[in-house]
Amino acid sequence: MDRVKIIPLGFLPQRAFQAIRDGSLEGGRIWNQCRDLHLEARRKYTKWPTKSDLQRATKGRYALHSQTIQMICHSFLANVEATRDLRRRHPEMKMKYPWRDKTFRPLAWPAQAVRYEVGKVILPMGRGRPSLVLRAKLPSTFGSVKLVWNCGYELHVCYGCESNKPQTKADALATVDLGEIHQATVTTDTGKSCIVSGRGIRSLKQGRHKAHGRFQKLLSRCKPGSRRHKKLSHCKAKLRVRTERRIRDVRHKGTRKVIAFCQQAGVKRLFVGNPDGVRRNRCGRKHNQRMSGWEYGKDIQYLKEKSSPLHIECFTGGERGTSSRCPECDHRQKVRGREWRCRACNFCGHRDVVGSVNMFPLAYGKKVAFPALVTYLRAGSVRKQRGANNLVVAQAQARSSRAVSPLGSSEPCRLALVASQAASSDVFLSGNRPQHSPRLEAHPL
Ligand SMILES: [Zn+2]
Repeated sequence: MDRVKIIPLGFLPQRAFQAIRDGSLEGGRIWNQCRDLHLEARRKYTKWPTKSDLQRATKGRYALHSQTIQMICHSFLANVEATRDLRRRHPEMKMKYPWRDKTFRPLAWPAQAVRYEVGKVILPMGRGRPSLVLRAKLPSTFGSVKLVWNCGYELHVCYGCESNKPQTKADALATVDLGEIHQATVTTDTGKSCIVSGRGIRSLKQGRHKAHGRFQKLLSRCKPGSRRHKKLSHCKAKLRVRTERRIRDVRHKGTRKVIAFCQQAGVKRLFVGNPDGVRRNRCGRKHNQRMSGWEYGKDIQYLKEKSSPLHIECFTGGERGTSSRCPECDHRQKVRGREWRCRACNFCGHRDVVGSVNMFPLAYGKKVAFPALVTYLRAGSVRKQRGANNLVVAQAQARSSRAVSPLGSSEPCRLALVASQAASSDVFLSGNRPQHSPRLEAHPL
């Protein structure tokens, strides 16, 4: 069982940063050569280049470690293979084989090329060139590593972990109803139910949308490529990446709680309803925005990944009509609010639990009773981290005070203020109004 650990590298020394950047540029050139060879073969109707053809063509021609070059060739071939498969199975998607010029490619090293000394990862850059030395702690069973740019470099480390022994008394069945307000609702056929709230993720996203709106308004007044445009874009990207990291963290915690509940309840098979049709309904711009940002595909993926080492069989299927039918008398009606009240038989229960109970006939072909016990859980805390709210402000301020603004002296202050408003959206989640930053006051207004 393989997992990936993501280690943000933070502020790198200038030399290391430049070496990674130059290496990624070189990686882009390798990709482009592979693309050219593949394109030529397709145009001339000759045999497509294989792994060994690409390796031979790129060997010793680029300023990178030989195995990094090979891994870029392999990733290119994997891309071609995936495209071929999609073209065969879904011709309506009209997938194109790799055609675009790539400027950068992430650098990867297989396990045998990575050297690790306590707290130090040594990555070779080829004969005659100094190796990259990064400060990071790797798991003891580390495998291949990859350097990825995500608004700052990250080290993605593959590592193996042992899968647990199957539970001896696991024979329960369960269904999961995914939602936007409640991330997941699980119901077992043993009369238990658990609701994991998704309000944390929802409010993080709302804060991000609001902040982006404010940034966008200012950006629309700047000249593209100007210093101010760059500063604002940088702040915006930074906020986006931080929010993404926080959402990913909360999502992992929520799905982990679902699987922990299943393990405790002795679940053997887990059905996850795929809410694909719900998103296609057009319900006004605000609701549409919420729906388009609902990442249920990730929920399904995380649930599958987390259930497999515990020997829980996880599968998906349609969930059409499950949330609009009464679990007692099959009466159909439109739902409003979080509580499901049947107009025919006066049944009353939680809306999402009703959805997951109604999935049983679809998934397992049998009906179950409405659970008597419902557990409510929060995915995780979305409270701000210490100093997080001042990070963007301080940066924007430091930059704007260094550089003279072309729009007059009041501009840097407005920039810092916008950044503070953007950062305050994070603070607002925890219920604390942002404290007025002393550094902001010290700035000449
Ligand atoms: Zn009813």
